[in-house]
Amino acid sequence: MEKIKMGKIVEMDGDEMTRIIWKMIKDELLEPYVELNTEYYDLGLPHRDETNDRVSIDAAEATKKYRVAVKCATITPNAQRVEEYGLKEMWKSPNGTIRAILDGTVFRTPVLVSGIKPTVRTWEKPITIARHAYGDVYKATEFRPTKPGKAELVFTSCDGEEERATIYDFECGGVLQGMYNKDTSIHSFAHSCFQYAIDTKQDLWFSTKDTISKKYDQTFKLIFQDIYDKSYKEKFEELGITYFYTLIDDAVARVIRSKGGYIWACKNYDGDVMSDMVSTAFGSLAMMTSVLVSPDGNYEYEAAHGTVTRHYYRYLEGEKTSTNPIATIFAWTGALRKRGEIDGNEALIGFADKLEKASLDTIESGKMTKDLVGLWEGSEATALTTEEFILAIKAELEKSL
Ligand code: NAP
Ligand code: MG
Repeated sequence: MEKIKMGKIVEMDGDEMTRIIWKMIKDELLEPYVELNTEYYDLGLPHRDETNDRVSIDAAEATKKYRVAVKCATITPNAQRVEEYGLKEMWKSPNGTIRAILDGTVFRTPVLVSGIKPTVRTWEKPITIARHAYGDVYKATEFRPTKPGKAELVFTSCDGEEERATIYDFECGGVLQGMYNKDTSIHSFAHSCFQYAIDTKQDLWFSTKDTISKKYDQTFKLIFQDIYDKSYKEKFEELGITYFYTLIDDAVARVIRSKGGYIWACKNYDGDVMSDMVSTAFGSLAMMTSVLVSPDGNYEYEAAHGTVTRHYYRYLEGEKTSTNPIATIFAWTGALRKRGEIDGNEALIGFADKLEKASLDTIESGKMTKDLVGLWEGSEATALTTEEFILAIKAELEKSL
């Protein structure tokens, strides 16, 4: 069989167990069938250290150029990692660096297989959470006044005008918090959400607490509505998808009663909390994919989980691990499919579809990694090592090619 040709994508290699899996996926599931055309960036921690983390910035810039990237999980250094790897500095999270450069929003979607039932009985299709990963309580300034006094909000504009509002006249100690967001960031968030809804042909829900937060949350609601009306309404109607705004508490109730199959956009804190709830209810972090979408339509695909350190240390001892490669495989298929869509490369899109189907069919035939066996409700399940599982997927894939 002739290998499928493709346009260039950015490849970002990573760390630990996921770096091992990365190579296995390329060797067994991709390179025999596709003439992989990637611009390779090694985001493994040793190379980030060598380049003073320049490589993370270069990889993000390359993503802007080629529009599609696939990323392996990477270590975010802490004090222990600085010692373990003898780092020059405690480098920042590559994901944070890339997100800041692409100004994007992260969409997390569970991979569903029959045989693993979501905890919520009505859910039949995945629910994708879009979290606005900028500002609010994550960039807040906090105070802990311990005696009576007056707390005020003061805004001094660059031309020297001042606006003031009393927050509270404290008669005792208390707590205070000042937080902000920016129109530009909310705009980018909205564009990424509408863009991704169109790409995936799914409804978009957005929820805030604008009845209580009459300026802060109301601004989010108004900006979304304005952008929708001006730039996306027609396209949504054409595709038969809807944009739906509701209060966060109403949204929570509707999500639980829904069948799934939509994108739920959340403010930063709501998205933090709700994505953990939704992913847990769908089953396993190892089955959760993630894509960073920039407002101008650049895409970076990855697994939602980390580098699976505990398995890696066992691997280094010579043990065969049963680490689940599904989210990493789906990061690759997501990137290949997107490249195919942008270039009109049907063969590449077809390959991505077949590899995803082969992965799911393998699990549904009862062959899976250890983490899934415990969740499995189908007939008997066999726990395979990562390598055996990838080879089982390969055998399934070959049937369809
Ligand atoms: P983790 O790598 O996601 O692993 C936590 C635990 O979840 C594992 O020990 C394992 O449980 C289970 N698990 C996760 N993925 C799995 C898979 N594919 N197959 C089977 N089990 C899986 O999180 P962590 O241990 O907190 O973080 C490790 C490193 O990853 C850290 O250095 C962190 O900075 C980094 N990280 C990177 C990203 C990213 O690049 N996007 C995201 C998160 C964390 P058992 O051990 O019980 O089997
Ligand atoms: Mg969280």
